[in-house]
Amino acid sequence: MEQMSKDETIALRQKYIGKSCQLFFKQDPIKIVKAKGQYMYDEKGNVYLDCINNVAHVGHCHPKVVEAGCEQMKLLSTNNRFLHDNIVLCAKRLVETMPEKLNTCFFVNSGSEANDLALRLAQIHTGNNDVITLKGAYHGHLTSLIDISHYKFSLPGGTGQKSHVHLASSPDIYRGKYNTKNHKKEEICRLYTEEVRSICERVRDEKGVGICAYIAESLISCGGQVIPPENYLKEVYNHVRAYGGVCIADEVQVGFGRVGTHWWAFQLQDVVPDIVTIGKPMGNGHPVAAVVTTEEIAESFRKTGVEYFNTYGGNPVSCAIANAVMDVIVEENLMQNALEVGEYLLDRCVELMNRYSAIGDVRGRGLFIGIEFVTDRESRTPDPETASFINKRMKENLILLSVDGPDNNVIKMKPPMVFSKQNVDEVVCALDEVFQEMEQTNSSRGSKIVEIEDKTK
Ligand code: PMP
Repeated sequence: MEQMSKDETIALRQKYIGKSCQLFFKQDPIKIVKAKGQYMYDEKGNVYLDCINNVAHVGHCHPKVVEAGCEQMKLLSTNNRFLHDNIVLCAKRLVETMPEKLNTCFFVNSGSEANDLALRLAQIHTGNNDVITLKGAYHGHLTSLIDISHYKFSLPGGTGQKSHVHLASSPDIYRGKYNTKNHKKEEICRLYTEEVRSICERVRDEKGVGICAYIAESLISCGGQVIPPENYLKEVYNHVRAYGGVCIADEVQVGFGRVGTHWWAFQLQDVVPDIVTIGKPMGNGHPVAAVVTTEEIAESFRKTGVEYFNTYGGNPVSCAIANAVMDVIVEENLMQNALEVGEYLLDRCVELMNRYSAIGDVRGRGLFIGIEFVTDRESRTPDPETASFINKRMKENLILLSVDGPDNNVIKMKPPMVFSKQNVDEVVCALDEVFQEMEQTNSSRGSKIVEIEDKTK
């Protein structure tokens, strides 16, 4: 399987691949040569447990998905200016998972393309240009999306905030601007949504224009696995619509049943967005993505007379794969699995939190979980060092996690949906060992990992 040694691969990568291309574990990168289910194999045959790959949604290289792609590839792969059953069946299928109003699809190749098209649709439909986005958010790598991705544009070498972009605080109730330490729980939602309303008002007063769009992930992944408070989206959507804007739900990471109870994470908040963007899990590793919107918005686009064409978007192979992914989610009951295993994972992480003070918060829905590290629970000061140390040690123990959030102190878990309770036990056991190890190493110099005596369960 391996064509060259890992050192040669690294040397060629250094020579020929842009240095800014991101690499996991830069100091000691992993060379993966094959994968199956929730497991990834390196060139030496080491087996990693994959807790982060939300793309390999129904499990790496799922035979049914692979076969669907291969069979269609043998038959035909062409652009969607020809009629083909796969694209219409895929669209029908997607629409059936959505609230009634969301009934029109556009197919693209990546989450970024989906979000770029969503912005274009929003601009055309509203005639406005001002976009509200969240602090810490990431929506893709195209220029239009870097502009609305605080995660990227605010970096020291980033392009900065453009005048049509407005930042609302991330609705993080643990360590955000309004949180359970400083505010009454029942007030937090209103404070966050009021911020969005006041942005809308300011845009109207200062520029004399309405809002184009509010865009957010329905659960905020890149911003640190944030679960917005109940009613947050409902109130925000009302404000945004009152000022002429449309609401875009970015489901690129969190969609396709990951939350367990629903196909789409926005459904947790009982709202209907105007535009939904989907990607990553849709192709289980194959590039396919889509925008799902209302008839009215699609009609505004049609009325421009500018036709939409995307060479690869919606090709028969991509759609065969997306259809197979949706089949497998249903046939293998993966949403129920995400719900049960996710709840078990959350409970077991709470147990860890009850034992180790370095964990300030544990949160999640389904197989979308975050563990937040703090130096001190009282002040909730972020602890990126502990998060990154644990991430590194877990990788050495062959468990792949990742660290994210505005302060890089949140360990993220969003494994393939075939993740099992046994996998949860492996992860929690390994985490426990790393904590014990840190305790031992730190005890001589005054530990910051404190094991809590009272083991509340
Ligand atoms: N939206 C979100 C929330 C994402 O996490 C990503 C990718 N990390 C994108 C959009 C962009 O998707 P892609 O990388 O497929 O272009």
